[in-house]
Amino acid sequence: MVAEATEETLTREGGVREHVVGAGIGCPGSIDRSRRLVRTTSNLGWVDYPIRGQIANVLQLPTVLDNDANCATYAEWWRGAGRGLEHLVGITVGTGIGGGVMLGGKIMRGASGSAGEVGHTTIDFNGRRCSCGNYGCLEAYASGPSIAVRARRGLEAGCKSVLTELVDGDLDRISAALIYKALMLEDKYAHEVMLEIAKLLGIGIANIINTLNPDVVVVVGGVVGAGEHLFETIRSEAQRRSFRSAFETCDIVPGELPETAGIIGAAGIFISEIFEQL
Ligand SMILES: [Zn+2]
Repeated sequence: MVAEATEETLTREGGVREHVVGAGIGCPGSIDRSRRLVRTTSNLGWVDYPIRGQIANVLQLPTVLDNDANCATYAEWWRGAGRGLEHLVGITVGTGIGGGVMLGGKIMRGASGSAGEVGHTTIDFNGRRCSCGNYGCLEAYASGPSIAVRARRGLEAGCKSVLTELVDGDLDRISAALIYKALMLEDKYAHEVMLEIAKLLGIGIANIINTLNPDVVVVVGGVVGAGEHLFETIRSEAQRRSFRSAFETCDIVPGELPETAGIIGAAGIFISEIFEQL
């Protein structure tokens, strides 16, 4: 599949195989960069999975592996909303919630490569079970699937919304994307759900601001589709809970590279590491 995708991309872009110098891989989960493995990934169920070696074998080229949220964060710093800034935190909100931290223009990976797991910081110590096994993580409330669960429960309890029509009464078909669509249709219930989610994201971001004092927090992923409304609430909740000086120097903005941040970042990290080795 990797070989076919490479050939397809070269054909589509008019590229030449000899000009491809290597590959960058962005993968969800905890990455062991010294052993070049995906240590664990709760959403895919992999344990010590050697994806870098497998892809390098197929391509016969130098290959670099990093966490997908680190890739998206690097991309927003390199080519997106955080260009030219020193201290940036990226939060990816999609199937899960990931995060990446860049301090002084470098990715901060931490002692075991797990830094930046914003989605698994606790926002409710008695909270819902998360895919990581913990309880009350931000991801258990504000990831795409968690937003859908929140909306579905309200509708099952009798709340009225255009969402019920959008799924022809089959509430299992409700997704975060449909909730953003209902929001654009000025649906009051979708607005209420997203207001709650935005507050929770604001709490998570306030924790980041008080811990790391970044220049910018860039929110990436499908949730950006909920629009500027979402960001107004995120900012006001983060402001309420952050140190004033830290909040005033920190922008909270949507990413500028929808759909492509992970890919651009994987390429950027590959380039930066190859140049560091030269
Ligand atoms: Zn968790």
